[in-house]
Amino acid sequence: MSARFTPETVERVKEAADIVEIVSAYTELRRAGERHMGLCPFHEERTPSFSVDPREKLYHCFGCGVGGDVIKFVEEKEGLGFPEAVEALGDRYGVEMERESEDPRAEDSRKRRARLGELLERTAQFYTTYLWESKEAGKAREYLGSRGLGEEVLRAFGVGYAPSAWDQVLTRGQRAGFGVPELAAVGLVQKGKKGGHYDRFRARIMFPVRDPRGRAQGFGARALRPDTKPKYLNSPEGELYRKSRTLYGIDRARGPIAKAGRAVVVEGYTDVLAAHQAGIEQAVGVMGTAITPEQLQQLSPHTDRIVLAMDADRAGQDAMLRVIELARQKSIRLQIAPMPDGKDPADLLTGDRADQFRALLDDAVDASTFQVRTLLDRFDLASPLARDRALDEVARVLGVLDADSVEGQELLRDVANRLQADPTVVAQRVHRSKASSVAVSGQAPAATSMPRQDEQPAPPPPLSARERRERALLSMCIGSPVEGREFLQRLTPEHLSSPVVGRARDWLLGHLEDPVAGLPREDDELVSLVTNLTMQSEREPVARDAMELNFLQLEQAVLEGRIDAAQQKGGDPPVELHRRRAELAERIAHWETAGA
Ligand SMILES: [Zn+2]
Repeated sequence: MSARFTPETVERVKEAADIVEIVSAYTELRRAGERHMGLCPFHEERTPSFSVDPREKLYHCFGCGVGGDVIKFVEEKEGLGFPEAVEALGDRYGVEMERESEDPRAEDSRKRRARLGELLERTAQFYTTYLWESKEAGKAREYLGSRGLGEEVLRAFGVGYAPSAWDQVLTRGQRAGFGVPELAAVGLVQKGKKGGHYDRFRARIMFPVRDPRGRAQGFGARALRPDTKPKYLNSPEGELYRKSRTLYGIDRARGPIAKAGRAVVVEGYTDVLAAHQAGIEQAVGVMGTAITPEQLQQLSPHTDRIVLAMDADRAGQDAMLRVIELARQKSIRLQIAPMPDGKDPADLLTGDRADQFRALLDDAVDASTFQVRTLLDRFDLASPLARDRALDEVARVLGVLDADSVEGQELLRDVANRLQADPTVVAQRVHRSKASSVAVSGQAPAATSMPRQDEQPAPPPPLSARERRERALLSMCIGSPVEGREFLQRLTPEHLSSPVVGRARDWLLGHLEDPVAGLPREDDELVSLVTNLTMQSEREPVARDAMELNFLQLEQAVLEGRIDAAQQKGGDPPVELHRRRAELAERIAHWETAGA
């Protein structure tokens, strides 16, 4: 973690950033009065409901409810953390950046990571030079060439070669001022039986693994000689490298993924290189037979559509189900492009079959459909007993889908057809399987509330009249802060429909002059709501009458609630409540006519 930027720096960055320019990289904006409108880059839509306020540097989507400031936009769209987004914008607009003086421990750890990163970077450069210039690496160059990989793509990815000697990296590292503990911390050297250290990677083709910002995290290494075990050797898990989170090529694929609206996931290093060489620059590698939930998580800020171009059968049923479920939770459309028998993408792409590969990507099937099909293929459906067992298995897959979605319904009908079963029987079995998975995991069945896989995330449910009123009142409070403060003080939690509205009320009380400055970024709901209210405030005409009327209506809702509660308990609500209700109705009528 780097030290935080000072609040002044963050403000300067916001000041300098051109939000219209930033957003325009993702969607076309048209000026509409003081704002710019366009199709929302966060959800699929045909009519523009995405609004950008260039003065306040805010954005908000009236369709899906996202919103925030220019920094938030960069965080979301580029998949960056807050400090990285600030830094990226600062770089782009040439803002002078200052960091808070940090506590010594954080500073030490930041410096250490920077140093380890530098060590990895230097070593990667050494491997690259060695690949292209040494005689020893001739065989490696030959091998890479035989896989159809050209120098350009190999250099772009910094592919290299580790010499077969035992101490090249060790001595070079030490000469450059790095200690053995540092070399060991990033897994470049390891301890021998007699206590000395030696190079971990020898006589291997080296693939540097980087984070989304291009910083080296570790290496993947392929043995050159066929008898060397293991064939692939990775950096050990450590301070910088975590295999389950690594996406090979993400630093180069990030931009193309955003542009193409999809990520293509392949298995191996050479698959990634072959794909990029063939112009499919949205490709990243998972370095395994399946995408892990962590990798899906890493990809999720970059795209909402992921195509797995790999042999999905090898992933294993349970692993696939977990990933399908996670994708669903994150509203990611997960698809599978099955590779023809025994081929991997590198085979197709470096032969003259790149078009075949592209066609496979375009024909990708939704992962759940694919799972169901392959499952059914495994059973001998002529036997009733096998059909019954197949139904059990398939029910688990269907269980993670939204049963009411078009896709869920279609799949259910297909299954019923192939198993010669009544669709209601299939539906019952799905229901039972869901119930048992609830019992096991203790969680609510994920499918019910989840967005459909064949559509974009559903827009939030329309606001109730009460929610519209409270939001209108809050944005009027922003519009006229003097009266606003008074009304905010009169609002109690009972007036408000949900905790986040309560948090917004509390926040506004302390920040009425500039509600969006310094919003607590970890509270997504609050950021989105306050942004929305602030943007709304400039379009609501503010009259004290309207504020009073809104407040009284909220008051009325509270009173109705109390009367209901009293009646539920049995017996009549106290006379006092009835009297106040009548009085309120009169006052509301008064304000309504006053406002008209
Ligand atoms: Zn939207």
